[in-house]
Amino acid sequence: MKPGGQKIAILGSTGSVGVNTLNVIRSYPHRFQTAALAAGRNVKLLAEQIAEFKPRAATVLTKELAEKLRSLLDPALKVEVAWGEEGYEKIASLDEAETVVSAMVGAAGLRPTWAAVRSGKRVALANKETLVMGGELIMAEAESRGAQILPVDSEHSAIFQVLCGQNRADVKRLILTASGGPFLNKSPQELAEVTSKEALAHPQWTMGAKISVDSATLMNKGLETIEARWLFGFSMEKIDIQIHPQSIVHSMVEFVDGAILAQMGCPDMRVPIAYALSYPERLPLDLPCLDLPCLPDLNFRQPDLEAFPCLALALEAGRSGGTSPVILNAANEVAVQSFLNGELNFLDISLVVRETLRQKPLEPLEDLEHIVKINYEARQKAKEIIAEMGRVNN
Ligand code: MG
Repeated sequence: MKPGGQKIAILGSTGSVGVNTLNVIRSYPHRFQTAALAAGRNVKLLAEQIAEFKPRAATVLTKELAEKLRSLLDPALKVEVAWGEEGYEKIASLDEAETVVSAMVGAAGLRPTWAAVRSGKRVALANKETLVMGGELIMAEAESRGAQILPVDSEHSAIFQVLCGQNRADVKRLILTASGGPFLNKSPQELAEVTSKEALAHPQWTMGAKISVDSATLMNKGLETIEARWLFGFSMEKIDIQIHPQSIVHSMVEFVDGAILAQMGCPDMRVPIAYALSYPERLPLDLPCLDLPCLPDLNFRQPDLEAFPCLALALEAGRSGGTSPVILNAANEVAVQSFLNGELNFLDISLVVRETLRQKPLEPLEDLEHIVKINYEARQKAKEIIAEMGRVNN
């Protein structure tokens, strides 16, 4: 069967969202075609993906990795291999790609996503940090370039689905649900002791390391609130969070008449990914359905901002605006990496973020280069703060 249909470029093809996107593409060979793949360091998996999906172009993080990738590929495939920032931007703005799936981890996704938006692509957005850092600029650019941004994050996909056909003026609030992560019921003493291995064991979703730690600190929900603020154009005050450990309701919208509409389903990323690719249609997916009579009781409760200070910091940064979310995100990325390396304990993550925000002055955001500069400076500052903490502790 000859593949055809919508041509898709995937930024972050070896991560959890990337792999699931390829699962969806594999199920619909007549509907989707892989135009280009970009990954970080996992050249072995990328080479396998290239052999199966036969994209025209591929990009990895460094020149060395690009050479390694070339050595693993069948020359008959004639894949253009590039590397680094330029390579990612090339994939994001590739002429023949109609849709770009933005699924790189963290701030590294900013420039390529910007390139996709500037090229007027349909962007299936999983890289929430992009909107956290530059939501205002990116949404304005998307508007002027005619680029459509479709959410892949499950909560935002839920809200997007619920809002379809609704009048925006009728919306009272958006309600993001949060599983609460693996440490929902732990005491502060217990939280000080948790290991990176425990933080990576998310109860409901299988995800990459960075987002798993963000889910454990609830930073993820703070980032998602800022993401929703830009994606849907409602103020931070109109976005609520409910802890919902069962992860069955993926998010809700409350309307002015008191009606609340929810989107429900089994937690599986293929649902929001497929919807972002096929919108406004829905694709039949061969996934387990919700077995309603067998569902556990569904619980909802307010998040505890004292027990999870990262969430409080993110909400505050979102309300402050300007460079605050950029600084928050940069410090969090550095602190999470240090936690994963065993250099920080779990509760130190919020201390590093708070201290970085305290030491970096809040400024209005100017343009993309300004975001990149602040991101770099905040990362350096966070590293200094961590090094200082290490000296105090040792
Ligand atoms: Mg999410």
